[in-house]
Amino acid sequence: MKSIKPTISTISDQSLDAFTRVIDFIKSLYPAQGTIPLHEPRFTGNERRYVLDAIDSTFVSSVGAYVGRFEEMMQEITGAKYAIALVNGTSALHIALKLAGVRQGDLVITQPMTFVATCNAISYLGAEPLFVDIDKTHLGMAPDALEELIREAVVVRDGAAYHKPSGRRISACLPMHTFGFPVAIDHIVALCASCHIPVVEDAAESLGSFYKDRHTGTFGLLGTFSFNGNKTVTCGGGGIIVTNDEALGKRAKHITTTAKMPHPWEFWHDEVGYNYRCPNLNAALACAQLEQLEGFVQNKRATAARYAAFFEDTAFTLVQEQPDSFANYWLNTLLLPGPAERDAFLEMTNRAGVMTRPVWTLMHQLPMFEKCPRMPLPNSEDIAARAVNIPSSVRI
Ligand SMILES: *Cc1c(COP(=O)(O)O)cnc(C)c1O
Repeated sequence: MKSIKPTISTISDQSLDAFTRVIDFIKSLYPAQGTIPLHEPRFTGNERRYVLDAIDSTFVSSVGAYVGRFEEMMQEITGAKYAIALVNGTSALHIALKLAGVRQGDLVITQPMTFVATCNAISYLGAEPLFVDIDKTHLGMAPDALEELIREAVVVRDGAAYHKPSGRRISACLPMHTFGFPVAIDHIVALCASCHIPVVEDAAESLGSFYKDRHTGTFGLLGTFSFNGNKTVTCGGGGIIVTNDEALGKRAKHITTTAKMPHPWEFWHDEVGYNYRCPNLNAALACAQLEQLEGFVQNKRATAARYAAFFEDTAFTLVQEQPDSFANYWLNTLLLPGPAERDAFLEMTNRAGVMTRPVWTLMHQLPMFEKCPRMPLPNSEDIAARAVNIPSSVRI
């Protein structure tokens, strides 16, 4: 038997005992499994039927009935007027930022605690992130940090916002609903509106999460979703842009389908476009998964409630949805007392076959974004040093 005691010796026996109890509890939530994954997909509905149907139809690529159905389902779920299905969440971010008006040399306000796709998409347009801190309750962009940036470093000229220290234009704000917890998005939208900055919401992790009874991703000018294999529902790879703006919705579809003008046989493209359309095969999988979204979210929320009850009397804090919000609890997140405990916890749980993960390396600490402008980031740095994600798959 391998010892599961961590090599880090600065941890008290009391903490180690507490970690053992956590491992036992997680194993009781997910019984009869070898290694317990962080988040695995569940194909318990019409997945096989729809995918085989797509194959039988011969429409497996970017034209087919499931693509339209996928979009309609997302309109219905989010309440957005337009939904455009793309190959993944990263391409959705790329196009949403482009449509919001982000250009070469601009700055885009975002948070340092996010998946790298958020900042990569900004870079694809030749722009750079401008980092503001997160809030410790919901782990997304903090309205007070954004307010401080606007007060101290933003100037509005001719209906556009500029970053005073660098003179660069700020063409968008891109908050992210971290691990499915809604940020105070109405506050962020209002702050940005006061200085003509359009908001694009990275709702990749928050499908099924609502703020004040409105679906995340629908507060800004545009919002984006991801259907990657580790998300709440998956279609292998896929993304969605939502918007209530008709012109933007039509343009999103146009430029993601190579900007080809509709014609039965002629090839006429009126600008440089992208081949970003979601294939019918993936859309078929998406439709089957979306039929189960409500049940999945209920199931995940029940698991989160079990975790909350368990962690209540411990030294660890489970991140919970805030007033006015309804979270999908995509990944349950635990705050440990400090980095030494976090490292020991990661080592012990993973060795015991319970997958846990630290949060992403903060974006301003990655080589390609380390020189990007930023405000003070104490909350991001504190949370990144002691947060871990724990198993959160839908339970059977
Ligand atoms: C998953 C994710 C994306 C998009 O990912 P894809 O793999 O391209 O679908 C974007 N932003 C965040 C925060 C994500 O978690």
